[in-house]
Amino acid sequence: MALIIDGKKISKEIKDELKEKVTALKGEGKNIALAVIQVGEDPASSVYVNNKKKACEYIGIESLSFHLPETITEEDLLEKIKELNQDEKVNGILVQLPLPKHIDEDKVIKTIAPEKDVDGFHPQSVGALSIGQKGFVSCTPAGVIQLLKRSGIEIAGKECVVIGRSNIVGKPMALLLLRENGTVTIAHSRTANLKEVAKRADILVVAVGKPKMIDSSYIKEGAVVIDVGIHRNEENKLCGDVDYDDVIEHVSAITPVPGGVGPMTIAMLMNNCVSSIE
Ligand code: NDP
Repeated sequence: MALIIDGKKISKEIKDELKEKVTALKGEGKNIALAVIQVGEDPASSVYVNNKKKACEYIGIESLSFHLPETITEEDLLEKIKELNQDEKVNGILVQLPLPKHIDEDKVIKTIAPEKDVDGFHPQSVGALSIGQKGFVSCTPAGVIQLLKRSGIEIAGKECVVIGRSNIVGKPMALLLLRENGTVTIAHSRTANLKEVAKRADILVVAVGKPKMIDSSYIKEGAVVIDVGIHRNEENKLCGDVDYDDVIEHVSAITPVPGGVGPMTIAMLMNNCVSSIE
């Protein structure tokens, strides 16, 4: 029987640990505040922003909301970020992506002060991760590491294959697995013989952005499969990048969608906020 890795339970554990830490910090007179900037009215972004606010409330982090109009100029948005960079009461700054097309996301990310970059997207944060220095780590891949560790899955010495090389998931995921002493391969749309590459994996992390693309023909018997993908299928139900029903008999452990990687992203964001003050 495969272990179904329970992301909801593990993220709750992490949030409860953080809540205790925040209570202790408050006892020392230290308050944590996260500034969340949303631009425009994208409904998915509104849901994410709202979930982040709820998580802050649960843990005891103050959330400062800045809902800016779709028509805001890039210059004005950058000014707002600079103002928050200077504000000593603000520990973390998060700009909800995606942004409207007239705003350069890279410029926005680079404008956030690295010491407040709780999303871990700033080039300095990414660079620190790649050379093994301290810094904020992108939340979704950090969440995957926690899922593995807290499920008792050893990473050191394992063959790890990450399918996907995006800046926010695939690349930092590979660096984190390497930091944990995995032997890491990164696969992408130009990888030759993807099935053979995937079948090497003791731990297969899938962040390909294609619903149910990975079926049992990509899986080594007994592999651990982490499904980062989130999609809505024809029946409007959530599904991942992995064909769960097809692979379940072949894996030793797997994350479901929903209830796997998804809940971990916010938990790790909260973790980054707390570590910003520690
Ligand atoms: P991107 O679209 O930015 O990246 C997808 C990656 O998959 C690219 O590197 C691409 O390769 C690769 N790829 C695409 N098609 C193939 C293929 N046929 N064979 C092999 N590789 C392929 O996606 P993200 O990394 O942002 O997200 C991945 C998934 O994770 C999405 O479903 C997203 O919704 C989900 N997600 C979930 C989060 C969560 O909280 N659970 C958070 C973030 C993302 P190439 O570089 O060559 O184009």
